[in-house]
Amino acid sequence: MSLEISCSCQHNKLVLNGPVIMRFICHCLICQNVYKAPYADVVVAWKNDIVATKPQTLEFKKFRMPPAVNRGLCTQCQKPVYGYLKSYVKHDLAFIPAQNFKDPSVLPKPCLHEFYHRAVSPIEDGLPKYYGYMHSMFGLSKALIKSLHSL
Ligand SMILES: [Zn+2]
Ligand SMILES: [Zn+2]
Repeated sequence: MSLEISCSCQHNKLVLNGPVIMRFICHCLICQNVYKAPYADVVVAWKNDIVATKPQTLEFKKFRMPPAVNRGLCTQCQKPVYGYLKSYVKHDLAFIPAQNFKDPSVLPKPCLHEFYHRAVSPIEDGLPKYYGYMHSMFGLSKALIKSLHSL
């Protein structure tokens, strides 16, 4: 799979040359702040599969103590380009906003909500919901392992 990705101002252009592992919705306060939206719609992939197709103008920042996602924000539009997390699964994991994909219709549907205790408004879509930090990490890890087995 080779999918085109860019931030909203197009200054950062990337290609994902590998599988989409999973997709989820995060309601945490950091995502609300970084995405300037009630929640983040996030696609998980391997960081190694991301290739920049032009010189990047992004800056990585951590917004809380480790283990925290390194969030790459565009220096032009200040919007998230992609983030990554050190992982012990296989490679580091990349977190890419679903809206940054040129063709979001090829993406799988989100499989869960995490940090749902921070949800700005209720969402009734039948997906599993995880509340609080530990519960959210548990839910995400469980879904991740399941998705990795079906790659
Ligand atoms: Zn940008
Ligand atoms: Zn979040």
